[in-house]
Amino acid sequence: MDTEHAKYCLEGTTCLPDNFEPCCDIFAGHTATCAFDLRYEWWGAAKGWYIRIADDAGGGGITIAWCPHCGTPLS
Ligand SMILES: [Zn+2]
Ligand SMILES: [Zn+2]
Repeated sequence: MDTEHAKYCLEGTTCLPDNFEPCCDIFAGHTATCAFDLRYEWWGAAKGWYIRIADDAGGGGITIAWCPHCGTPLS
């Protein structure tokens, strides 16, 4: 990780719905990771879950409707 990235690294921060209850530990573990890792965020304005893309790599997100780890529909 370069120092430029470290200034706005998202690791340790989360974007989660108020009543978040993770479907599995793996999903929960990826809600506070760096965007260069696998990072899941709840985007309230869009009312959906997204795989965050690092701003360094273009930004934005990829919508997901099911947990990629256990297959549970995300709400
Ligand atoms: Zn980072
Ligand atoms: Zn899961």
